Amino acid sequence: MKFDDILGHDNVKQRLRKMAAEDKIPHALLFEGPEGIGKLAMARAFAQYLHCQNPTGDGNPCGLCPSCLQYRTFNQPDTFFVFPIYKKKSGKDSFCDDFAGEWEEFLSENIYADFSTWVKILDSGTAKPVIYNNEGDAILRKISVKSYSSRYKIMILWLPEKMNEQCANHLLKIIEEPYEDTLLFFVSNTPNEILPTIYSRVQRVIMKPLPLPLIAGYLSDKYAVDGNLAVSVANLSGGSVTKAEALLNINEDNKMFLELFKRLMRSAYVKNLRDLKDWAEEVAGLKREKCCFFLSYVAKLIRENFIYNIGNASLNYMTKEEEEFGAKFSPFINERNVAVIVNEIDKAVADISRNANGKIVLFDFAIKMIIAIKS
Ligand SMILES: [Zn+2]
Repeated sequence: MKFDDILGHDNVKQRLRKMAAEDKIPHALLFEGPEGIGKLAMARAFAQYLHCQNPTGDGNPCGLCPSCLQYRTFNQPDTFFVFPIYKKKSGKDSFCDDFAGEWEEFLSENIYADFSTWVKILDSGTAKPVIYNNEGDAILRKISVKSYSSRYKIMILWLPEKMNEQCANHLLKIIEEPYEDTLLFFVSNTPNEILPTIYSRVQRVIMKPLPLPLIAGYLSDKYAVDGNLAVSVANLSGGSVTKAEALLNINEDNKMFLELFKRLMRSAYVKNLRDLKDWAEEVAGLKREKCCFFLSYVAKLIRENFIYNIGNASLNYMTKEEEEFGAKFSPFINERNVAVIVNEIDKAVADISRNANGKIVLFDFAIKMIIAIKS
């Protein structure tokens, strides 16, 4: 995670870089602000920056040194995370380490974290995730081990407001009598719910909601959301990326959209007209706006696959699942057909917006794909 990966918050980034440059990093920092604006990402970027062996001139972790590579694979030995979990078996203790796989999945898929996404990944049923008392011992144990490969030992604790009191008391001791070169980064959505004894002892980094144009730009870039829709969703988001994404239902829809995209291209490749007709009927069955949104998603993936094909993987904005398909599909998208396909999509969107018969427009479009991906 680099600072540049996070939208906005330039003042916060500068403040953190300054702390590092002046070697005046408070022992306990609290990143506080509304959900979904990049607080956890900021804590992660700062930790990676402090551990980076070769930070770039523009003040980012390099992304290439051994420590940065360990951050990418979630095994940097001098950093550990604490976060709310549930008890896997009632009556038996559970620790954050028992959920390392889920946590890795959560972090690798989401720059902008929200609690409900975490709950979904945890699959905790009716149990409310919290940070249990026994985690305090685990923290103490981890923090008392000297750092391996760098100066600082860093703990990133997500959502201290969900910490049981006994665990909080453990932490209080560590905050009051700090170990040398140990840094505690807390990340909170609701700081007013943190135990006052802890809250009064941390240095606060207040992060504000993101400016709406940044959110709108992010939605357009990442999800190919039409400009006007992006602006109206941004206005409703209150400056939170996760809220904007939830408003667009992006996570749920994205999965369905990717499946529909794969099916279109596979059926076009084997010239399965019957399935293309079924496909057209299914897509036409979506609400008109969603149907247009899906087509703009198809256009986005076509462009991304073209970029992938011409070997500019670093310029790609595909999810892991999209890229998995793209690895096989991208050779079919080239300079001869990319503009043709995008143009056909634009025409289909225009027709559907004008109330044309969706089934006919989409079947026609699907048939054109048979020819286009063979050229
Ligand atoms: Zn580095």
